[in-house]
Amino acid sequence: MAVETKQELNPKTTHFEFSGPIGAFVLTFGLPLLVNVLCVCCTKEGCSLAPSHIIAQWKKTPFLTAEVYKVYLLWLAALALADLIVPGQIVDGTELRNGQRLKYKFNGTRVIAILGALLLSRGVATNWQLPELQFIYTNLTQLANASIVTSFAISTYLYISSFFGNKLLALGGNSHNVFYDFFMGRELNPRIGKLDLKLFLEMRPGLLLWVLIDLAMVHHQWLTYGRVSASIVLVTLFQGYYVIEGTFYEAGLVSMIDTTLDGLGFMLVFGDISLVPFTYSLQTRFLADNFVELSWLQIALITSVYLLGIAVFRLSNNEKNKFKQGKTNPGEYTYIETKTGSKLLTSGWWGMARHINYTGDWISSWAYSLPCGFNLVPYYYVVYFGVLLVHRESRDEAKCAAKYGETWTEYKRRVPYKFFPYLL
Ligand code: NDP
Repeated sequence: MAVETKQELNPKTTHFEFSGPIGAFVLTFGLPLLVNVLCVCCTKEGCSLAPSHIIAQWKKTPFLTAEVYKVYLLWLAALALADLIVPGQIVDGTELRNGQRLKYKFNGTRVIAILGALLLSRGVATNWQLPELQFIYTNLTQLANASIVTSFAISTYLYISSFFGNKLLALGGNSHNVFYDFFMGRELNPRIGKLDLKLFLEMRPGLLLWVLIDLAMVHHQWLTYGRVSASIVLVTLFQGYYVIEGTFYEAGLVSMIDTTLDGLGFMLVFGDISLVPFTYSLQTRFLADNFVELSWLQIALITSVYLLGIAVFRLSNNEKNKFKQGKTNPGEYTYIETKTGSKLLTSGWWGMARHINYTGDWISSWAYSLPCGFNLVPYYYVVYFGVLLVHRESRDEAKCAAKYGETWTEYKRRVPYKFFPYLL
């Protein structure tokens, strides 16, 4: 009887994504290779993906030394400790399939303030030589490999531990195929004591390292050229704002599909701690050694693209959050009531396109790459992020179709565009 209940709660996954186990296997080993390629492709001579260039760079770069790994583990441990001891806002999670509601603590702004204060005090103490930032620049590939090794270690722990105790599993990560489940993640919300591993990994070690890598690149440019370019300052400000602003709204994470739908496996762990910091910073890495000047007109145009994107992204996300929390005035919006009781907005931003928030996010990604000029490699992010969002849209679409049935079909009739009103 108990076994039956467990099986009902955690049914076997029959619908596969990423072309099933073979796709999951290829991604598990292919994505770390991609990170290693993108870490070394941009040098003083420019940016190139030519195999001869990449192999030549790899020959010059140690894979991972014990010293760098120790520093990386210290970074992780310090952030985990900060997550646990720094006070924060307590927020109720969404109701889970087993009726449970987890509690989350969000202390991102305080952790960022502590990190910023530490960095400033180190700057003053070292006359702005900041050996920590120089360490990041010099050992970037090794740090990336440290994060990759750690991703495999954490994912292995998560996979094994998911078999012990009465765990709530992700509907998409319980196929009984080891490669697939390792990649997709079996357990929905794994915790070690009070540390929620999913939200910790999503918000701290990767995102904050992304900002630190950008700062290390700015610092390197300053040490090399004696001044910094507007292009690298723009990218660092845009990306820094995206990360810091994200922590102001991090309580909204409780309803994100990563939190409510995905298991914590290699896909999320690696994405959070390796792919984000080491590939999203590609533009500043390029600019650190390639001084790109921008005219005032170019600065104004690129900034406008960023502001447009970030405004659409933030206003649409805020509108949905406000609506879901019942904080809108009666009659302010039109909506459809679903059989589950939740409502789907059909006016405002959400009347324009079903994933207008993704569109805003993608538009701002252009502003990260445009300051790099005509070299195509730094535009990797625009392409990668576009693919990620299109794939994410299809997953969310499948989730909502299954959850809301006919009502979702009606919603699609009323809001026919996915990303761009009247276009797509
Ligand atoms: P959303 O925040 O758009 O959440 C989708 C969910 O919202 C749906 O499953 C449904 O959930 C609900 N919903 C959909 N349409 C409506 C509507 N009209 N009215 C009310 N509720 C609706 O998606 P994500 O969680 O994927 O993304 C959140 C943000 O994070 C996005 O802006 C995205 O761009 C960004 N992001 C950034 C990444 C990066 O690497 N920089 C990676 C991934 C995301 P339900 O009804 O079940 O509540």
